[in-house]
Amino acid sequence: KPIIAIVGKPNVGKSTIFNRIIGERVSIVEDTPGITRDRIYSSGEWLTHDFNLIDTGGIDLGDEPFQKQIRAQAEVAIDESDVIIFMVNGREGVTQADEMVARILYKSNKPVVLAVNKIDNPEMRSDIYDFYSLGFGEPFPISGSHGLGLGDLLDEAAKHFPTNEDPDYDDETIRLSLIGRPNVGKSSLINAILGEERVIVSPIAGTTRDAIDTLYTVDDQEYVLIDTAGMRKKGKVYESTEKYSVLRALKAIERSNVVLVVIDAEEGIIEQDKKVAGYAHEAGKAIVIVVNKWDTVEKDSKTMKKFEEKVRDNFQFLDYAPIAFVSALEKSRLKTLFPLIQMADENHRKRVQSSTLNEVITDAVAMNPTPTDNGRRLNIFYATQVAIQPPTFVVFVNDAELMHFSYKRFLENRIRDAFGFEGTPVHLISRKRN
Ligand code: GDP
Repeated sequence: KPIIAIVGKPNVGKSTIFNRIIGERVSIVEDTPGITRDRIYSSGEWLTHDFNLIDTGGIDLGDEPFQKQIRAQAEVAIDESDVIIFMVNGREGVTQADEMVARILYKSNKPVVLAVNKIDNPEMRSDIYDFYSLGFGEPFPISGSHGLGLGDLLDEAAKHFPTNEDPDYDDETIRLSLIGRPNVGKSSLINAILGEERVIVSPIAGTTRDAIDTLYTVDDQEYVLIDTAGMRKKGKVYESTEKYSVLRALKAIERSNVVLVVIDAEEGIIEQDKKVAGYAHEAGKAIVIVVNKWDTVEKDSKTMKKFEEKVRDNFQFLDYAPIAFVSALEKSRLKTLFPLIQMADENHRKRVQSSTLNEVITDAVAMNPTPTDNGRRLNIFYATQVAIQPPTFVVFVNDAELMHFSYKRFLENRIRDAFGFEGTPVHLISRKRN
């Protein structure tokens, strides 16, 4: 999907516009307890246009001066998007901060659409002409608070969408990405995995963004490592911010089949790790948890078991994900990783037979009767698999309201155990049968 970024100095109304455009449809597959969501990146739709949207206002450098903040936000937009919406405040006229943003944007060769916000009624439209001086052509009047002008603005942005889609890899190829907060060792792992000589292809023709995919083969299985460029190219001030690492992760997750959630054995698990992992879970990707820097841990025979318990405790929503313990630095135990990735991917794309599925559900119900509510009992008539990646099942019932969360979890787990869905989330949807 093409990516639009919104930039502009603080308080021009970026977040309001962001929320207007994405509406309430933040893609949450299911509620995951313990995960808070940052709405800096989301998918949006406008008539026939389908895109992702970044609110760069969410990139916060803490106490850094204003100018540095704005610069970082503009750089994120330039690096991460296909089209930039540059927002200014129509009630203020052109300010120095706007000019500063403009200068940064000139130097990129990204298409920029200028949006003049807070033009709440037609009489104010004459206020927009000043903004021609910023040098981005016709300014588009919009009103975040009244939701005006967004259609024209997005139509203009869509004119600049790249026409090439992502490169099309063979269906058998496993698209893999590594996510995790800064410094857990993602780049080191990539380098350790690839060993420089095994890198076959870098920028692949047809790639529309700066993402560089790397194709490589292990044990006759072909892999594409997604977005390694972004990880290996370092040094920008915003790269250490939490929101930016989430943004990076989301972009990579979207294009992946299997996501490696990397955590740091030395520093342990912190809240930010859970948040990043939560996105991969919600996106329904196959997941392997990778505990890196295993070399730093002093070990006895129980260490791994104990660490595993800690991981399980912290990532309860990832109870299906296998765990690998590795050291990128010492290049040790990396071989344990690939069988897990392969297994997770296989399960992620597995189809099961309806007849067997229904036997499993019948047995599950016999073991643990369906819940009742006000004397009404949930009746399950039939179940069928409707999708893979992740495996998704529809169960037809008398009343979907009667399918309580805990019972749904129970059925998911029965299905998981019966068919062996280790490494992949399993989605279960209840539908009323007419
Ligand atoms: P990224 O931000 O997740 O890409 O992390 P980097 O790959 O840049 O690694 C961050 C730091 O951790 C660097 O100083 C690495 O040398 C170090 N590091 C990475 N992997 C390991 C490991 O397995 N063991 C140890 N001891 N250090 C590591």
